[in-house]
Amino acid sequence: EHSDNIKWDKAPCRFCGTGCSVLVGTRDGKVVATKGDPESPVNRGLNCIKGYFLSKIMYGKDRLTTPLLRMKDGKYDKEGEFTPVSWDNAFDIMAEKWKHAIKTKGPTSVGMFGSGQWTVWEGYAAVKLHKAGFLTNNIDPNARHCMASAVGGFMRTFGIDEPMGCYDDLEAADHFVLWGANMAEMHPVLWARLSDRRLSNPNGKVHVLSTFQNRSFDLADNAMVFRPQSDLVILNFIANYIIQNGAVNQDFVSKHTKFAKGVTDIGYGLRPDHPLEKKAKNPGSGKSSPISFDEYAQFVSTYTLEYAAKMSGVEPEKLLELAKAYADPNIKVTSLWTMGINQHVRGVWANNMLYNLHLLTGKIATPGNSPYSLTGQPSACGTAREVGTFAHRLPADMVVANDKHRAIAEKIWQLPAGAIPPKPGYHAVLQSRMLKDGKLNCYWTMCTNNMQAGPNINQEIYPGFRNPKNFIVVSDPYPTVTAMTADLILPTAMWVEKEGAYGNAERRTHMWHQQVKAPQGAQSDLWQLMEFAKRFKVAEVWPAELLAKQPEYADKTLFDVLFANGVVNKFPVSDCKAELNDESQHFGFYVQKGLFEEYASFGRGHGHDLADFDAYHASRGLRWPVVNGKETLHRFVEGADPYVKAGSGYQFYGKPDGKAVIFALPYEPAAEEPDAEYDLWMSTGRVLEHWHTGSMTARVPELYRAVPDAQIFMHPEDASARGLKRGDEVIVASSRGELKTRVETKGRNKPPRGVVFMPFFDARQLVNKLMLDATDPLSKETDFKKCPVKVMKA
Ligand code: SF4
Repeated sequence: EHSDNIKWDKAPCRFCGTGCSVLVGTRDGKVVATKGDPESPVNRGLNCIKGYFLSKIMYGKDRLTTPLLRMKDGKYDKEGEFTPVSWDNAFDIMAEKWKHAIKTKGPTSVGMFGSGQWTVWEGYAAVKLHKAGFLTNNIDPNARHCMASAVGGFMRTFGIDEPMGCYDDLEAADHFVLWGANMAEMHPVLWARLSDRRLSNPNGKVHVLSTFQNRSFDLADNAMVFRPQSDLVILNFIANYIIQNGAVNQDFVSKHTKFAKGVTDIGYGLRPDHPLEKKAKNPGSGKSSPISFDEYAQFVSTYTLEYAAKMSGVEPEKLLELAKAYADPNIKVTSLWTMGINQHVRGVWANNMLYNLHLLTGKIATPGNSPYSLTGQPSACGTAREVGTFAHRLPADMVVANDKHRAIAEKIWQLPAGAIPPKPGYHAVLQSRMLKDGKLNCYWTMCTNNMQAGPNINQEIYPGFRNPKNFIVVSDPYPTVTAMTADLILPTAMWVEKEGAYGNAERRTHMWHQQVKAPQGAQSDLWQLMEFAKRFKVAEVWPAELLAKQPEYADKTLFDVLFANGVVNKFPVSDCKAELNDESQHFGFYVQKGLFEEYASFGRGHGHDLADFDAYHASRGLRWPVVNGKETLHRFVEGADPYVKAGSGYQFYGKPDGKAVIFALPYEPAAEEPDAEYDLWMSTGRVLEHWHTGSMTARVPELYRAVPDAQIFMHPEDASARGLKRGDEVIVASSRGELKTRVETKGRNKPPRGVVFMPFFDARQLVNKLMLDATDPLSKETDFKKCPVKVMKA
């Protein structure tokens, strides 16, 4: 473990949902190297380019080390300059603002925007502080922008969240179908495994669908560029083909599925008075009613090959080849998707429609037959979904609107009955609207950069942050665009400067120890949440009638009740075998273990069983449910999943009757389509070299130099039709804003005519100010993949 005075220890990568393990090399209190972890079953010694440069993300020259408050003439002023203050001063003004807002306007006037990049216990502590402490459900993670539609899809079809398969399916599948996912850039290590399988399997095939040609097309046997939004038509065409060609697995379908028809014309999740919203008949309705197989067959029968080809622009023979892969019982198919399906005004539907194909054919939950929803962020599963940091959720797939679920949480959290409010809080996009409207007044964002990553920045997010009624706090290691728009910035510890746990896209929970100290002055998100909780007497934030049910809490602080109570403070610091653990030293108990064990008690025995805390430090992670020390590779199948009853074959136990639902859902158009003025579709997304908004990777010199600026990728004929050539400076405009960038007509992305692509990593080119804040009305996830723009010479 020691060579060249470098000490090596394991940690998951800080970036994507793949969840690679890396070996972290430290010397003299600094991370000096990282390398792929050969013992990791996920990445087997490999990392992608971002992972190889992890050692440099903490050492940007502009790392924040002191709280900064906007001040003028020695006191806080919204128009003042950022001025260094102590942590005490920072928490003083925060507590004053929070108490005033809660007292005068109630608990819904405070809220938090969190992250799928939080550690598990940071997310858990944040949920507890808000739902059990401030008694507000106004907490939502940036995973709302990322995985909410996947969650909605899982819950609707199966009644339980997260994939039934695992990464082992990559070595077992014959055909892979990429639905809008550019895995070559976004999940490069999984792409390496997939490529290995394809290139060593002469009968294998890779089908790639996207609205523009990207790097994943290099491996495509069947390459399809479809018109934005027409994926819904293609999905229903394949279902129709399966039925018309006698490829339905009748035995599986009759035993393990049922059919339902969803309510249609559900709107676009815009403000109710938005001109594009008024047309909807059933805005936001997720209702459905049972139908028969024959009614379902009749419903999809209009989605013919001709119709699908006409709507999508894809050649019929390619669509046929794709449909045959799903229909052939001898071909094992793994479908993979991420933001192309999730960031979609019909994202939940699209997830449901993908499951339809696997359920109709019975190609599900066995090795290689896998509908596989990939994850964007490193702990979108572990922290956002499993912990339940969403505005409508509680841990272990429970929801605040359910009386029984709230009662379970209140018991574990030792709260009086009725403490947790039953109404879901503001989701991410609604938080921005409520800030702008002055209804959400105290707002804390952690571990996220919404001013760059959120939609419709100019019209919704920026005015909310700058509203004089509001006090905005941003915790971040760096002065991001979001931080620089706040009233108070808190400097934050990152990655191996603290102890953590993440949950990746295959239900794998993995942990790491703190390996270096944070720079003097920076503190972890967990420390910040727990210290802030010390500033509130329970009696200052709870209503008298609630407090009367538990009068012994009256003189206690929220810290006492939430974090020095129950299971949380049960484990001594000596349980931690690592050299560093700043939080434990500070609070006097092994806080991470206590929070984890309390959190784990929500899921044990309910299909979400986690192993004991120490098992994760002793391994490269385990896939839940972990029962009797054994992880689960495939859920819902007898013999593989401990929850499936003997003799049942399959059991979709998330549903009371054990049956998954096949949904009849139609094509519906996008919220906004190109017109004579805004004549191009624009899609946004990532690049291999940068993580999301570039707040970490743009500070790594090698990654910055590799891709310093965002560009707009466009078809050469679209460029020449506008008098443009490669490298020209252009204005890109939507009806919401404009930016200046340069044209790229070659390189890794090749859009068809009528489509442009621009990544969002570049803080100097805020592409999301062009995007409409149209969301899937069921998941509340924004469609970042299509918005009409025009491109003009600058
Ligand atoms: Fe692995 Fe993703 Fe990290 Fe790359 S960014 S090393 S693929 S976890």
